[in-house]
Amino acid sequence: MKLLMAANWKMFKKLDEAARSARDLAALVKNLPPDREVVLFTPFTTLRACFEALSSAGAQSLVQLGGQNCYPAREGAFTGEISPDMLLDCGCAHVLVGHSERRALFAESDDFIGKKCAFALSSGLKVMLCIGETLGERDGAMLRPVLERQLAEGLAGVPDAVPAENLAIAYEPVWAIGTGRVATPPDILGAHALIRSFLKRRFPTQGDELRILYGGSVKPENAPEIISLDNVNGVLVGGASLQADSFSRIVFAGHRS
Ligand code: PEP
Repeated sequence: MKLLMAANWKMFKKLDEAARSARDLAALVKNLPPDREVVLFTPFTTLRACFEALSSAGAQSLVQLGGQNCYPAREGAFTGEISPDMLLDCGCAHVLVGHSERRALFAESDDFIGKKCAFALSSGLKVMLCIGETLGERDGAMLRPVLERQLAEGLAGVPDAVPAENLAIAYEPVWAIGTGRVATPPDILGAHALIRSFLKRRFPTQGDELRILYGGSVKPENAPEIISLDNVNGVLVGGASLQADSFSRIVFAGHRS
């Protein structure tokens, strides 16, 4: 199973800066180890510029692109929304669904997230479903019910035979996102084991092969330890992905050449 090293640029970077960062990253990861994949989730407005920058650097297979969100319809009167088809048209292969900022700031429900997940997959995108508990939920011993509810509803419309490479889960404890507070190895091991056991029940044939990423204040300094943990099959990186140099150090974390 390849490690999936993903960057979430959130609402940062205009066209020039995005294209430059994509080009810089392409140069830095040109010797990408064969056991890793890289995906950039960039703002919608910069996807095409990043695609062109990566193509002209000959790096479109090395660094893949994804949208940070999508609407579950092919087209229609959904002002302000972007469809999976539009993401494919911009050169995307992936989409992020259910990021905690969308759940908290835009009131996205598990049911709506589930619809996006199923529709994006059926449209031909690879989906990264984000889940994670708040501090109050963790302190209130709600970790398992919260993660299991987010998984059950988020994956409700996903076909049982979904190919393992088309679906990934990003475990992002809300209290660790953008806070500088990283979950401890036992926190990560516990949550990822719980997610793995859910996936094995939900997808008996390929639940073992679905990738589970950790996200939350990942930096070049802590990435090697995080990706060495059981059931950690990659990372989703926000703040530390904005600089190509720091993200490339995360991409190579723990790799011995
Ligand atoms: C994220 O936005 O998905 C994230 C993990 O952010 P950060 O790395 O900044 O905590």
